Amino acid sequence: MSKKAAWTDTIIYARPEEQYIHVKREPVAGAVCPECKSKDVKRYPIANWMGPRIVVKCQTCFHVLEISYPTREDRWPPYQPLTLDWPVALAERASVERVLSQGKNK
Ligand SMILES: [Zn+2]
Repeated sequence: MSKKAAWTDTIIYARPEEQYIHVKREPVAGAVCPECKSKDVKRYPIANWMGPRIVVKCQTCFHVLEISYPTREDRWPPYQPLTLDWPVALAERASVERVLSQGKNK
């Protein structure tokens, strides 16, 4: 993982200077797809029905190896509330754990 991001990096963005912007897919060292045995496995941000997530996916057959919550260092989604990594209240904990377990199975 890259260095820890300053909290201001999650709310202040410079205007992009590139003509086209794209998602950077980072190769996952040592990962092998269990479906097709390809070593072309990459990690990148996605937005699916559960919201913003980080996926580790085979680029040959698109088998999903892992889906997880993004960290501040992932800078995904582009805007993150300041309370994103605060502990979840007891009243909301059960639903958060259910969503997390669904995310790991998808
Ligand atoms: Zn594969």
